[in-house]
Amino acid sequence: MAPEIKYTKLFIDNEWVDAKSGKTFETYSPHDGSVIARVAEADKEDVDLAVAAAKRAFHRNSEWRQMDASKRGEILYKFSDLVERDQTYLAELESYNNGMVLAHAKTFVGGTVGTVRFFASCADKVTGETIPADGEVFSYTLRQPVGVCALILPWNAPIAMFLSKVCTALAAGCTVVVKPAEQTPLTALVLAALLAEAGLPKGVVNVVTGFGPGAGTSLTHHSDVAKVSFTGSLEVGKLIQQASGASNLKRVTLELGGKSPLIIMNDADLNVAVPYAANAVFFLQGQICIAASRLFVQSGIYDKFVEAAVKYAQSIKVGNPADPTTQNGPQVDETMMNKVLGYIEKGKQEGAKLLCGGYRVGTSGYYIQPAVFANVTDDMTIAKEEIFGPVQSILKFDTLEEAIDRANATNYGLAAGIFTSNLNNALQFSKHVEAGTVWVNTYLHFAPQQPFGGFKESGIGRENGVDSLLAYTEVKTVAVNLPKIV
Ligand code: NAD
Repeated sequence: MAPEIKYTKLFIDNEWVDAKSGKTFETYSPHDGSVIARVAEADKEDVDLAVAAAKRAFHRNSEWRQMDASKRGEILYKFSDLVERDQTYLAELESYNNGMVLAHAKTFVGGTVGTVRFFASCADKVTGETIPADGEVFSYTLRQPVGVCALILPWNAPIAMFLSKVCTALAAGCTVVVKPAEQTPLTALVLAALLAEAGLPKGVVNVVTGFGPGAGTSLTHHSDVAKVSFTGSLEVGKLIQQASGASNLKRVTLELGGKSPLIIMNDADLNVAVPYAANAVFFLQGQICIAASRLFVQSGIYDKFVEAAVKYAQSIKVGNPADPTTQNGPQVDETMMNKVLGYIEKGKQEGAKLLCGGYRVGTSGYYIQPAVFANVTDDMTIAKEEIFGPVQSILKFDTLEEAIDRANATNYGLAAGIFTSNLNNALQFSKHVEAGTVWVNTYLHFAPQQPFGGFKESGIGRENGVDSLLAYTEVKTVAVNLPKIV
C-alpha cells in the first residue's frame, strides 16, 4: 500500500502555507511514472517570506539566539528520537518518491539517526581560542553562527541530505531555508513537521518546495542569505558560485559530482573485491556522487575479474523497490533514465565492450539492467563523464604508479578506493590520489564523524565531521586592551 502523503504545502514560520501564486507541481513515482501528489511551487515571493522568517529567528533577541547551546542539542536529540520513531514511514515515503529500494531506504534512515545525534552532541562544543597576540591585549576568538543558510538538496538521497545539512546548521546556531529537489519534495516536509514537534522555535527551519530556476535562484541571489550549502550537479554548483559573486558574497559549500576511481591490485581478494566493486557503482542504481564509475583492474587478474563482475551484475534483481527481494530499483525519472541509456549507447559506439545489461527493463517506470563494460579506455566518454546510472566501466592497468596518474587525470576528486593486501600499495595510493575520501579494502563507508567532500571540481568544503560545523560559523577576533600593571 502506498504511504500516506501528509504534507504538500510550504513550511514557513512553523506554518503550512500555499505558494502566494497558488501554483503547484506534480511529483511522481519512479516505479510507474504515476503522479503521487501535487506540491506547492515556491517562487521569489515565497522565498522572500521564508528568508524573512529565518532572519527574524536569527535576530539577537530571538528565542533561538537566546537559547543555550546545550538546549539546541537537546532539541536535536529529541528530533533524532522522532526520526527513529517514524523511520518506517519515512523510509516508505523515500522509496515511493525516489525509487530507492525500501530496504536501502530503511538502512539510510536508520543510519541518519546517528548523524542527527552526532550533531546534537556538537551543539555546545563549537569553541573559539585564546590568542597569544603581540601587545598588551587579551585576545580571543568567538565562533559564531554565520546567519540564514539556504540548503539546496539533490534527489538521490533526500532524507540523508536534509538531515546532514540541517543538523549541522542548527548545531552551529544558524537558521535555514531548505529547498528540496523538485523530483523528491515529500520527505523534507515530513522532517520539517518533526522538527516543529521536537520544539524548534518558529522560523528556524523553513522548507520551500519548487524548482531550481525560481525557488533555487531566488535563494542563491538573496542578500539576506549568508551561506548556501548545495549538493547536486557541477553545472549548477558553478551557477551558485556566480550568484554569490553577483549578490552578497554569501559563503558557499558545494558537494558536486565525481568520476571516482577504484583500483583492484593483483593481490586483492577477489571474493571481497568483486561484490564491493559492484555495490560501489550499482548502489542506488548508480545515482550516487561517489559511484566508483572508473574501475581500474590490474592486468594479471583482469580477465578473471571481468568474468566474475559480469556474473555478479547479472545476478542483480531489478524491480519494484517495495518488493523485499529487489536489489535495484528505477532511475529517478525519465530524463535521467534516457541520459544513462544515452551514455551506454555512446560507450558501445566508442568501442567499449558491453558484456551484460545496459537496457531498459519493461516499459513502465524507469528501470535499467546494470551494465558492465570491459576494454574501456581513458579517452572514452563513459570513462570521463559522470553517468549517474548503473554502469560499471572496467579499465586495465599494469603498475600502481600508472593507476595513480590515470586516477588523477580528471577534473573531479570526490572519492577513491583500492583493494590490495599490500600495505605499501594502500598507503602510497591514499597519499597520492586526489580525492576527499579514500577507502582501502572497503567502499561507501560513511560515518557522521568523517568529513566528506571533494578535491578539484567535486566541490568546496566538507559535510559531516567537525570540519563541516566550522563552515556554518564566522570567526570573530576580540582584542581587549589590558592596561599595564606594575
Ligand atoms: P541539479 O544540480 O540540477 O539540481 C540539484 C538541486 O539544485 C535541485 O534542488 C534543483 O532544484 C536545484 N537547482 C537547479 N538549478 C538551480 C539554480 N540555477 N540555482 C539554484 N538551485 C538550482 O541536479 P539534477 O538535475 O537533479 O541532476 C543532474 C545531475 O546532477 C546528475 O546527472 C548528477 O550528475 C548530478 N547530481 C549529483 C548529486 C550529488 O550527490 N553530487 C546529486 C544529484 C545529482
